[in-house]
Amino acid sequence: MAIQTINPYNNKEVKSFEEFSAETVEQKIAQADQTYQVWKSVPVKERSKLLMNVASILRERKEELAKLITLEMGKLIAQSEAEIDMCASVYEYYAQNAATFLEDKLIEVKDGKAFVRYTPIGIILAVEPWNYPFNQVARVAAPNIMAGNVIMVKHASNVPQCAQAIEEIFRQAGAKEGIYTNLFLSSQKIAKIAEDSRIVGMSLTGSEKAGSSLAEAAGKNLKKSVLELGGSDPFIVLEDADLDKAVQNAVKGRFGNMGQACTSSKRIIVVEEVADKFLEKFKEKLTGLKIGDPMERDTQVGPLSSEEAAKKIEEQVNETVKAGAKVVLGGKRIAREGAFFEPTILTDIKPGMVAYHEEIFGPVASFYKVKDEKEAIALANDSTFGLGGSVFSQNIDRAIEVASQIETGMIFINEHAASRPDLPFGGTKRSGYGRELSELGIEEFVNKKLIRIS
Ligand code: NDP
Repeated sequence: MAIQTINPYNNKEVKSFEEFSAETVEQKIAQADQTYQVWKSVPVKERSKLLMNVASILRERKEELAKLITLEMGKLIAQSEAEIDMCASVYEYYAQNAATFLEDKLIEVKDGKAFVRYTPIGIILAVEPWNYPFNQVARVAAPNIMAGNVIMVKHASNVPQCAQAIEEIFRQAGAKEGIYTNLFLSSQKIAKIAEDSRIVGMSLTGSEKAGSSLAEAAGKNLKKSVLELGGSDPFIVLEDADLDKAVQNAVKGRFGNMGQACTSSKRIIVVEEVADKFLEKFKEKLTGLKIGDPMERDTQVGPLSSEEAAKKIEEQVNETVKAGAKVVLGGKRIAREGAFFEPTILTDIKPGMVAYHEEIFGPVASFYKVKDEKEAIALANDSTFGLGGSVFSQNIDRAIEVASQIETGMIFINEHAASRPDLPFGGTKRSGYGRELSELGIEEFVNKKLIRIS
């Protein structure tokens, strides 16, 4: 895949970039390693200053950076701005809390003393996706830089200007060369780089295929990895839910970022008592939305990230419909230039159909009517994915009981799944392993060293 900016609003190429040569990559790894030897001993307070600078630059340059996101992957401009704010808050969160997270953890022992000290381990290689081009990077960069590691990022090939901008922001914030390094690389080179002994940990957010390939390379070289992969999150609505609230959340949860989020509410599962009413309201909210240029503030439906992405969604929807599912809303490409696809609701989806099993990474809600809570849970768990999910009920004890039976890494009660700096993020099953964000996120790539005093 060429490294280039193609505006998905009109599918025109804006700029392209050369992949780094093997010599450049070697130089950059050497620089990162040299910087790590110093950075690992820099006091947490100083690391924290750097990240606070990064956060304030992000906020100052929000408008310009948001436009870059929208240009490269088509996100609605207000959502791009919100991403920059969120990203700044991730850097601030770790700048403010890492000292506490990294404190020695005392272990109660009968004789003498023992504690665990968190020490940095080296260069972490992060492979990141285009769907939240600034925030996905922050989730790995912020905790690791605070922990004393340094970061090299191979970003998705369709967001090279965002990738460059992040590196430049670190520079502007006063980071020494090598604390944060952008790598213009094709994904085929990752396995080779994984062999380098100076790289000690690897993290990837993206598809199952990419995740499995990175994990294979990490495993072969005995390196730890963290994977944040796809999801097909269940969004369960029980009969005692606040229906309007549930509908509102389903719209945001499924169609925010044009449905291109790993924790999008992809499978809307509603018990039959309220299913028809829910569907009617849901459809109503998605009808008559303004389609157009994502740079314009009143646009409600923008393009997907790329022409390929739109084609893939079209294929998945067509195959599902051919197998017998019904289209209640949308269902096809929007007849205009650019990577557009209509907001879509599918019903009557059965096992064996594409939408039942695969992740649909776009504006397509799979709607299921089920008999009761038990059926809702069984359907929610009949998935190879296990990332997030939601349960809507006004009976919180009941909702917690349902939540505890769902096989995912995160469940949100009475709200759609979302990521926040202070909450752990990650999945089970084929959605990956490890956690980002919160205290758990900083623990992934540190040496938890036991110190025992007799
Ligand atoms: P990919 O998984 O292909 O891309 C994500 C990142 O992984 C990119 O940086 C990509 O680089 C890199 N990559 C791709 N293949 C490999 C590989 N074999 N080894 C190492 N790195 C690799 O996602 P796509 O953009 O193609 O989207 C496809 C699907 O991935 C989506 O439909 C969705 O299911 C899932 N996805 C999930 C995301 C999430 O947030 N969990 C985010 C984005 C996608 P390059 O761009 O150069 O190929």
